[in-house]
Amino acid sequence: MKNEQFSFETKLLHNRHKFDPTNGAVSVPIQHASTFHQFEIDQFGKYDYSRSLNPTREALEDVIAELEGGVKGFAFSSGMAAISTAFLLLSSGDHVVITEDVYGGTFRMVTEVLSRFGIEHTFVDMTNLEEVKQAIQPNTKAFYVETPSNPLLKVTDIQAISKIAKEIGALTFVDNTFLTPLLQKPLELGADIVLHSATKFLSGHSDVVAGLAVVKDEALAKRLGFLQNSFGAVLGVQDCWLVLRGLKTLHVRLEQSQKSAEKLAEFFENHPLVPAVYFPGLKNHPQHKVQTLQADGPGAVLSFELENEEALRIFVKHVKIPVFAVSLGAVESILSYPAKMSHAAMPQTEREKRGIQNSLLRLSVGLENPDDLINDFSQALEHVRQKQLVLPGENV
Ligand SMILES: *Cc1c(COP(=O)(O)O)cnc(C)c1O
Repeated sequence: MKNEQFSFETKLLHNRHKFDPTNGAVSVPIQHASTFHQFEIDQFGKYDYSRSLNPTREALEDVIAELEGGVKGFAFSSGMAAISTAFLLLSSGDHVVITEDVYGGTFRMVTEVLSRFGIEHTFVDMTNLEEVKQAIQPNTKAFYVETPSNPLLKVTDIQAISKIAKEIGALTFVDNTFLTPLLQKPLELGADIVLHSATKFLSGHSDVVAGLAVVKDEALAKRLGFLQNSFGAVLGVQDCWLVLRGLKTLHVRLEQSQKSAEKLAEFFENHPLVPAVYFPGLKNHPQHKVQTLQADGPGAVLSFELENEEALRIFVKHVKIPVFAVSLGAVESILSYPAKMSHAAMPQTEREKRGIQNSLLRLSVGLENPDDLINDFSQALEHVRQKQLVLPGENV
């Protein structure tokens, strides 16, 4: 069924897999079979072995392809498996231009794994297109974008990067984990591959680790499909089902979280003990304009600075509502400490170069009442203030 006439929210529910054509079941069946009986000796059926193709995984791959507006989707055992498999499109001797404040796991893959296979890289501040152009080498084959970036929420102009890439015949990869296709569609902006940690907003309940990729053209789809089958890091069927279920409520979850994130960004911005807030929805965000042009919203993740690491420790100790954890994009708010969590794989000197201080916290806003969150953060900041009133040397 072609659904071009439906809006995104409707497509989340009424897609090709809204019911099972054989019995009408309104939830995609979980097909555990690893192998499939072949009825003909010379001609195999559509399915033969589940690493290559499995009906449950195929349903998820179809749905994400339709939502991102691509020709084919691929489901992997984690976001890193999706990202790493996509990097296997490159060969020894190739060069990647990559955004400098990239997810810590991607940083590790590029610097410590791909480098051993002769794939070179240059980190750049992708908000600076001149710097991007200067990083191009004769062997540049890909541009790797993450926008908004993690954890400083810098925004990269996807259209501009894709244009630069096309001029030299290179591919553009975009990690769309933070916004999802509800808010941003990189393929429409010229990217070749969209990557996801489906662990985050797409699934949304902190109960599954999964990755997705979507490609725009058939030739690239064939190459990535070949790599998915060769490398074999496919998503298990139970997990495919969990992602499919999470997707159905993506827009209500993300839109509600985004509304609360906007409220919280404003709260932090006006608080005297918070020297900096990073959120693309703020009018004073340096790339606010690009963000509003290329996406339908700022998302539900923001970062903020406290005065120093001690203030951060007091704050975290007294916050009650969010879980203090790695990850983002869940129904519950998640407060994380990039220096020790998502970016622990990055050496301190590299973190500091990128402005990821030991006083920085990242908040993924969940579905709690935003006023409860504001009250909670207020009381935690009050503890920070009281501690600072105590003069140095005074015993408490
Ligand atoms: C979490 C995350 C990843 C890695 O995904 P996993 O599912 O944890 O492997 C990649 N990119 C971004 C932006 C992420 O937040």
